[in-house]
Amino acid sequence: MKETDKKKTLSPEERKKLEQERAQTQIELERLREYLKTEPDPTGDAADLDAYEREKNLALVRRMEQKLEEIDYALRAAKKGTYGICERCGKPIDPARLAALPETTLCVKCKNVLEKAARRAAL
Ligand SMILES: [Zn+2]
Repeated sequence: MKETDKKKTLSPEERKKLEQERAQTQIELERLREYLKTEPDPTGDAADLDAYEREKNLALVRRMEQKLEEIDYALRAAKKGTYGICERCGKPIDPARLAALPETTLCVKCKNVLEKAARRAAL
């Protein structure tokens, strides 16, 4: 494989896309955190709905925090020249996968392995 076949850095457009995604995720995260800071309504018919909304928003917050971490990791990796390298097995990540999911830090194989492990742990 030629050295140029391996993707180790971001093009300016890709970097911009990632940084925009990061900014958007942060804004959304702020909004959700503000919402979660408001006092819950402990009385009336709205209480159950409120609890449900909070649960849903907490899950979203967690997912977005994880996404931010992934974006930061990808940006750091690009700076070090290791972008597109799987953080688990060290092999290059499929370029098509990177195009669809620029913040990904795992190749498909490792992602599947980790997801299976997470599902087993959740059972
Ligand atoms: Zn891997």
